[in-house]
This record gives sequence, C-alpha cells and structure tokens, in this order.
Amino acid sequence: MEWCQSIPKVELHAHLNGSIRDSTLLELARDLGETGVLVFSDFEHVILKSDRSLVEVFKLFDLIHMVTTDHTTISRITREVIEDFASENVVYIELRTTPKKNKLIGMSKRSYMEAVVEGLKSINSVDVAFMPHDVDTHSPLNSLSIDNNCNVTPRKRIYVRLLLSIDRRETTEDAMETVKLALELKDVGVVGIDLSGNPIVGEWTTFWPALQFAKENGLAITLHCGEVPNPKEIQAMLDFWPQRIGHACFFEGDNWEKLKHLNIPVEICLTSNIRTNSISSLDVHHFADLYKVNHPLVICTDDSGVFSTSVSKEYSLAASAFGLGKKEIFQLARDAIEFIFADNEIKKILNQVFDSYVTNLA
Ligand code: 5GP
Repeated sequence: MEWCQSIPKVELHAHLNGSIRDSTLLELARDLGETGVLVFSDFEHVILKSDRSLVEVFKLFDLIHMVTTDHTTISRITREVIEDFASENVVYIELRTTPKKNKLIGMSKRSYMEAVVEGLKSINSVDVAFMPHDVDTHSPLNSLSIDNNCNVTPRKRIYVRLLLSIDRRETTEDAMETVKLALELKDVGVVGIDLSGNPIVGEWTTFWPALQFAKENGLAITLHCGEVPNPKEIQAMLDFWPQRIGHACFFEGDNWEKLKHLNIPVEICLTSNIRTNSISSLDVHHFADLYKVNHPLVICTDDSGVFSTSVSKEYSLAASAFGLGKKEIFQLARDAIEFIFADNEIKKILNQVFDSYVTNLA
C-alpha cells in the first residue's frame, strides 16, 4: 500500500461529491442539524454505514447534495478533494461533477462550475495546473517548498481537468445546457462529458442528442455503462463509441466481444463494484479477463469518500487480488496516460513525471 502511495498515479473516474471527506460531510451536516434543517443523528447513521447497495448509494447522494450544494461549500470540497488526491501522488486527475441549479440560492449550472473553478484557484498547499496554458508556465517536475524551519521539500504538483456530468434524471434540454456550458468552459480545463446517475433511471435516447452534439463539437465522452443488466442500452452505448466507459460490470456475449473489439478503455472501480454488490467478489471481477487480453484499463476510485478508498488503496487491491507485482502495477498506472482526455502536451509531461520516478529509483 505504501509503495502504491509513492508512485505517480492518474485518476480518471472520480465524482466530486462522492469524493468528499467524511469529516467535512459530518461537519456540514452537524451545522445544518443545528439550524433544524435536518436531523443530524439520522444523517450520521447513513453516512457511517459501510455497506450500501447501488440504490442506497443514490439515496446517500441526495443527502450529500442537501448539505454540499451551495457555492462556498462546492469551492471548499473541490479544494479538499484535489488536496487529498495530490497528497497520495495523483499527478493528473479528471474530476467530474454534475452542474446543478437551485433558484432559491441563486445557483445556475454556470455559477456551480464557477464555484468549482474558484475552489481550484484557492489551493495553495500544492501546485495545481488546470488551465490549458498552465502547461507552458510550469515545469513538469515537482518544485521545491521551504517551510518556516528552512526545511526544503518537493512541492507536489497535480494537473486537473474537469468533466461535466449529465445526471440520468435530467431532460434532453438540461443535458444540452450542460454540454453547451462545457464548451464555454474549455479554457478553464473542461475536456469532456460524463453520463452518470442512477442507472435504473432514464433512457439512453433522452441523452443521446446532447452527447452527440458534444462529440461533434470536440468534447470527449465517457459513459457509465453496464452498471446494471441492460443489454440493449449497453449495445446502444457501444454503437455510440465513447472514448471511455465506466464500470462495465454487466456485459455479456456480443456486447463483451464488441467492447474488446472496439478497444474502448474501461475505468475500473474495484471497491465501488464490490460495495454496491455489482460484482460479488474480486475473484470474479472482469478486470482479470480484460487485463489478460491487454484491454485498455485504468484503476479508479469512483467515490473515494462514499466508499472510504483512495487511488493507492485501489492499486494495492488490484495487486493483491490479481497477483500483480510492482512492475505490472507501475505499468498499469503509467498506461492510464494514454486514455486521458487532455492533449498530447500533457501526455508528454506525464510521461516525463513517470520517467523521473524511475530515474530516482535507479
Ligand atoms: P457530483 O456529480 O454531484 O459531484 O457527484 C455525485 C453524483 O455522481 C451522484 O449524484 C451520481 O449522479 C454520480 N455518481 C457517483 N457515483 C456513481 C456511480 O457509482 N454510478 C453512477 N451511475 N453514478 C454515480
């Protein structure tokens, strides 16, 4: 685990509100409990429960959103989430979140995203490069920081890109609004669109027009796909040919073969799949089959807060569950660079980061 923590890593499937710290969530809930908006003890019980079905996870998200959805809190959790990933040597992250509206507090999808960007700008404990031009102004390697006692330590640097999520509860118009917003926010690091939310809600045909529009306008697409058995939807999603998919737990027959044939990278979230009972045990997880045939894969957390995990823990789990050694784990972490949505310039930088890790080891 310690070794997995020390290596550079790339995180491509992390939901902002699912990555919130437990301590922050409890603090926010306690504050709202004091004002009588919610009953804290009920909330605490739900947060601290460790085993949840997929349906219960979505109920939990409704509770999380009750306490997090205001501009100041969104900025705060963005800051904390990026600090947490950087602290375990994640060097590139695509953080995804669903832009939300709430007329009562003057929140629009745009102002929600502005709060996310404010959060990124407010980070000063690590170097954060999130705008496309940040590439030119930063050296790819860690800079040095000097504390009050004149101790010099390498300062961590993390490259951040954003994906805007469409929630499956949304209408075609809502989804289109999110895609248009993503196009307007390319200059603050938005690189793509995600389709997520409760997989038993909504129809693929509702989201298709917005996703197609996104694709035609150069945004990369990742879809939560095959989280529940729904072969028709899986087939339609594969026909759409997204750049990546998340989960892929319930693929069978032709769809499984097609996924392999199309070589679509899969974001693998081991703990999430087990905790939500999507996969009964790691012994039967599809990672093994895909890894064996060299299918493009990336290890991710999904919701590090909700599932009490971290990228390092997920790599460590992959190592023990599938018998991978350090060399294989390092290569797996490095291969993820190929599947990022940011441009080749960033890929080059990330490759240098991985090279320098190897050089330092030698
Ligand atoms: P947010 O978009 O609010 O920052 O992050 C939480 C949201 O991400 C949830 O409300 C849900 O829409 C989506 N999400 C988080 N985890 C999962 C997951 O495992 N599966 C699916 N389909 N959606 C998820």
